[in-house]
Formats: sequence, C-alpha cells, structure tokens
Amino acid sequence: VLRIRGVNMEIEMIERKTLKEKPAAGSELGFGKLFTDYMFSMVYEEGRGWHDAKISPYEPIPFDPSTSVLHYAQGVFEGAKAFKNEKGEIRIFRLAENFSRMNRSCDRMCMPRLDADFALKAVYRLVQLEKDWIPTAEGTALYIRPLMIASSAELGVHAAKKYLFFVILSPVGAYYKHGLAPTKIYVENHYARTVAGGTGEAKCLGNYAGSIKAAEEAQKKGYDQVLWLDGVHKKYIEEVGSMNIFFVIGDEVVTPALNGSILPGITRKSCLEILRANGYKVSERLLSVKEVVKAHKKGRLKEVFGTGTAAVVSPVGVLGVNGENLEVNGGRMGDVTKFLYDTVTGIQTGRLEDKFGWVTVL
Ligand SMILES: *Cc1c(COP(=O)(O)O)cnc(C)c1O
Repeated sequence: VLRIRGVNMEIEMIERKTLKEKPAAGSELGFGKLFTDYMFSMVYEEGRGWHDAKISPYEPIPFDPSTSVLHYAQGVFEGAKAFKNEKGEIRIFRLAENFSRMNRSCDRMCMPRLDADFALKAVYRLVQLEKDWIPTAEGTALYIRPLMIASSAELGVHAAKKYLFFVILSPVGAYYKHGLAPTKIYVENHYARTVAGGTGEAKCLGNYAGSIKAAEEAQKKGYDQVLWLDGVHKKYIEEVGSMNIFFVIGDEVVTPALNGSILPGITRKSCLEILRANGYKVSERLLSVKEVVKAHKKGRLKEVFGTGTAAVVSPVGVLGVNGENLEVNGGRMGDVTKFLYDTVTGIQTGRLEDKFGWVTVL
C-alpha cells in the first residue's frame, strides 16, 4: 500500500509477474501505440465517493455490454507529458492545469469531480514507477492519458451512478520527424465541430468522433487538418483539429477568445503567458476568416500556428479558403512560431529556466 501524504486515501499496489520489453533506444515510437507496464485507477459510486485507488498491471478492462459510456459517451479525458532530460530529471509539465480542466469538463458532463491534488500525486507515483519508459531522444516524451468514464451497467439516459477513472502512459516519438514541417490547413465551411453551449469547451468523449469526417474529406483534398469556424455563421475562426490556433497579423499576435465553444488549451495558455511576458502585442478576440484573407492580401499575415500538447507548436504553411490556397510566410516557419516552440520545449526539458513554475521535477 502506497500512502500519499496529506491526502486521505491510499493506493494499493498490485505487481506484475513479468515486465514488458521496453522499446529499444532510438526506435520509432509513434503516438499512443505502446503502453507501459502499469496503470492507475480508482472507482466512484454515488454515496461512497472515490475509492479502490490502485496501481495495477496495464491490461484489458472487462465491460458489461450495457456500460453507460459505450452508449452515451459520458466521459472526459486529458493529455499531458512527462520528460526525462540528459541529467536524468523527470519533468512533468503543468499537470495541475489538466486536472483543473478535467474537473471543469466533469461539471459539464455531470460527472463527479476528482480530488485534483490526489490525482496529481497518484500520477507522479505512476510516472516515477515507470520512469524507465520515459524516452530521452529530442522531441520524445511519456504521454499521460487520464480518462474518466461512466461505468454503470444500464441504458437509462441520465448521469451514471458509477464511474471509473484511470491513467495510462505511452512513450511517444517526436511529432516532427523531419524538423518542424509547416502543415496545410483546410478552412472548413460545411461541417461544424460544436457550437457555444455545446460540449466543445469540455475535453469530453465524442467531440472527436464528430470531427473525423471533415478531417478525412480535407485529407482527400490534400490538407493535413481542418480549421473549424463558429458553428452558427461559419465566419469566425475557432481552432484546428486537436489544436488551438494563432495568427500573427502585422505586429499583433491574435488567437480567438475563449467563447464557450473553443477548447481552452494549456499550450494556448502557456504561449499567451510567454508572449505577454516577452512584450509581444497579444489579443484574444473575435477573428473572422475575412479579416485573415484581407490581411494576407495586404501582406500583413506573417505567421499562423497551432498549439497543443502533442505537437507543442505547429507552423501552418498553407490555408485553404474557398478553393484558394493562401501561402503563409513562404510556407516556412516564422520567428514567433520558432520562439514559442523553443521556449515551451526548453522549459519542458529544462534547457531553459522555468520562470513560470510550470514544471514538477519528480
Ligand atoms: C486537447 C485539445 C486542444 C489542445 O489542448 P492542450 O491542453 O494544449 O493540449 C485543442 N483543441 C482540442 C479540441 C483539444 O481536444
């Protein structure tokens, strides 16, 4: 039994008989294909609260076919990363932000909140236990995936009475194999990801299921991802696939203001804080496609980039708008994009000083 100081819950430890073979140093890890030896889990029951916290072997979970989440997608997830640098330090980036967002997602989905402090410490324990799985090559990380799902076995459409929370870990490769290659983004004017008042602001199950169709059609047209517009007017820019989006127009760095349908990314927030601390002119505001096209025509659209945990900062080289391809910065990565990529990854790995206090070193 592992006791976590300051939290009134213990974690049971169930050991594996044999450990899996770890990937060879330098091998292609991909994203979310390999999983470590152990997972953390706990269960919730109405009237009893969270209990049965344990670290146990990573293995299949048996489900009753009527399990609520399988039918109605009452569930929320998160994504974060741990790093190991050449000094051997294990560094976790802003995980407290993930659990605070997860709790907000839980509120939206009528799910029980977590004791964020306990969840944080449980993940620290799990990552510590699995430290030999953290890859060290440039751009690699141990991806942390917390998930909470409705686990009641019943078909009634209402908030479930039982929930399962678990955390799995996956060593992931560098997002960019050949340097930061700019992406081609299709401005989606038919499908909508969500609308204000919907679930787009919550990191919940189902948001992605509805977006795959648009992504596939854009890929058929030769683009990498879609840029979502507001679901009502299809006029205002919201975000890209699994990333938030930024534009450098003249000397202003603009990202759409959080409006109830945009996912509040932690990388987005980090980039805004870095830009502001470094004296950039930054705005979170309403931004129309029309304004972006106009800025491009006048030569004022300097850079476009996406932000998210997986890619960190991803330069956009082409925007496909109404059958026209707008090339951004000659299809190359711009200075602001590069500055943010270097700063965020520098803080994550310890190459740069963590002035903001974002990293927990285990
Ligand atoms: C998770 C996510 C993001 C990025 O959030 P980060 O916290 O920066 O990883 C952006 N958009 C959507 C739809 C997401 O699910």
